[in-house]
Amino acid sequence: MIDINPAHTLSPSVLKFLEASTQGHYINGEVVSGAHSGSIPITNPATEQVIAQIDIADKKLVDQAVSSARSAFRHSSWKRMSPTKRQGLLLSLADAIEAEVDSIAELLTLENGKLLAHAKSEIRGAANTFRYYAGWATKLEGETLDLSLRQAPGRQNFAFTRREPVGVVAAIVPWNFPISIAAWKLAPLLAAGCTVVLKPSEVTPLSTLYLAKLFGDVGFPAGVVNVITGDGETGAVLTTHPEIDKITFTGSTQVGKIIGKAAMSDLKDVSLELGGKSPGLIFEDADLEDAAKGIAMGIFRNGGQVCVAGSRVYIQEKVFDKVVADIAAACQKMKMSDGFDVSSELGPLVSRTHLDSVLGYVDKGLSEGAELVCGGKRPNEKGYYMQPTIFASTDNQKKIIAEEIFGPVLVAVPFKDMEDGLRLANDSRYGLSSTVWTKDISKALHCVSELDAGWVFVNAPARSDANFPLGGNKQSGIGRELGKTGVYNFTKLKSVNIVF
Ligand code: NDP
Repeated sequence: MIDINPAHTLSPSVLKFLEASTQGHYINGEVVSGAHSGSIPITNPATEQVIAQIDIADKKLVDQAVSSARSAFRHSSWKRMSPTKRQGLLLSLADAIEAEVDSIAELLTLENGKLLAHAKSEIRGAANTFRYYAGWATKLEGETLDLSLRQAPGRQNFAFTRREPVGVVAAIVPWNFPISIAAWKLAPLLAAGCTVVLKPSEVTPLSTLYLAKLFGDVGFPAGVVNVITGDGETGAVLTTHPEIDKITFTGSTQVGKIIGKAAMSDLKDVSLELGGKSPGLIFEDADLEDAAKGIAMGIFRNGGQVCVAGSRVYIQEKVFDKVVADIAAACQKMKMSDGFDVSSELGPLVSRTHLDSVLGYVDKGLSEGAELVCGGKRPNEKGYYMQPTIFASTDNQKKIIAEEIFGPVLVAVPFKDMEDGLRLANDSRYGLSSTVWTKDISKALHCVSELDAGWVFVNAPARSDANFPLGGNKQSGIGRELGKTGVYNFTKLKSVNIVF
């Protein structure tokens, strides 16, 4: 019996899915159980109840999944499929996801804790990502090239480039947006003609396993999409597998570096979307109420468990106290409850380990002498809830300002003028996202060019869109996902010269 908010009833399909004593992997178009090196319990972070078990794939099973993807890449109808047909399959998948939005969202709320409304919008967003990349399947193109090579008398040449699929991809997905991030990887790589073995986080694998079966249902050839479950060790076996051509990873900078090093030792192609400590800059001429609301949304949505969360805010001195008070008022009003409560504005954090890590940062902030403006506590005995928290500091060198906390914790720091604000904002080892709040367009454009970040939003909190490339500078990663560049990442260029 799954213990959830009595105001919500789980769909029959979810109850049926959760009946299995252990959830199997999805390999070569089938659910596979068996070869494993143990199992992992999956916990509902709102109730702390164990709701399922997953297998930890052992090396034999990783081999099986990779060889299924390799064989689909080399031999199946996938290789010979026309771009229009690939487009059609991606569109059918998007429709299948829409049709299952309620079930996938329930699983996502159960395993991750996020609000059901946010889970639904994540899944609809994923369906749109598949639709967006369906369009790209028919639009990949090369170029013709004029060469200066001298030809033998009477001979001519014709040179061109082709975009070919990079091959078999290992996709490693974290727990904060399991379905969005899976779609950001799966949709472009499938549009490009690649095949994949995807490993969701051990904390949130259920929604992805449910999604995996839809690929078979809509007619993707067996082996094109494979999903295996396990821990970080399973991820390491997968990403270092000799038959993997490319790794696409989203997660911590620490693990990103391990994967990057391993990829280089085998010269595998790799994209890394890593951590962030994204700044917001609020100028005194901004619409201050709008800015306070935007900053609150940018850090407290999804409990701050967002790679682009605006976790540092720099506020011009004259308006510092007012803006901090406005953000604090917004944060103190937030209703904290489980994701199935329709009035909830903040669900629990994803796991006990993560809650302890975030609470540990609150202790660090206090011991470093930062001023706790509000929050900072675990409000309930049950569930991994954490109060939205604001610190104020005049010193930019504190651990709570330097390190990614990945929770509902904002640090506010005053700045004097634009150059001072930009210096403080750029004084970070990360460079993922940033926001600027001002009514002065020339100030905004100066900040756009000076901020060392992959994303800059002016007068709005950071939000993703399928046509808007995402990725970081410095320790926030290598490469960009989404947009045209997102699909080109899964292609390799072949240059061809024909002499005739
Ligand atoms: P990790 O970076 O450890 O995990 C991300 C993914 O990588 C998971 O699927 C994980 O599997 C997998 N993984 C772990 N180790 C390896 C490895 N050696 N080789 C291949 N894959 C591996 O993040 P955590 O979940 O531990 O979260 C820790 C911190 O990371 C957070 O507090 C946050 O700061 C940051 N983070 C950043 C994210 C982002 O969007 N940029 C997303 C999530 C976390 P498994 O979960 O099964 O161990």
